[in-house]
Amino acid sequence: MVAKLTRKIDERIYVNRYNIHAKNHLVVVQDMCAVCKDKPCTFSCPVDNYVWDAENKRLTVYYEGCVECGACVVVCPYHKITLTYPPAGRGVNYRFG
Ligand code: SF4
Ligand code: SF4
Repeated sequence: MVAKLTRKIDERIYVNRYNIHAKNHLVVVQDMCAVCKDKPCTFSCPVDNYVWDAENKRLTVYYEGCVECGACVVVCPYHKITLTYPPAGRGVNYRFG
């Protein structure tokens, strides 16, 4: 029991299973990303779904590994991220709650 409670988040995420939906459930309007000072989406996502390309000034979103926590939606200072949960049976399937 103690081992379960002390398991690291990466280990917990690893056991999840995904039934990836063809449609991206994360929509990001990128008109403010270049001027967004701290780009909090790039460090608040627990599975590193957001990667900023400084050279091309574009954000890449890897929706396939999303654990649907909603953190990115909350931290975006310009409210540019919309999360629409995938249909039932698609997206993340938690193995330990
Ligand atoms: S936090 Fe919002 S505005 Fe900032 S880089 Fe991410 S998506 Fe763009
Ligand atoms: S909902 Fe959570 S896991 Fe999915 S992209 Fe946003 S922060 Fe990452």
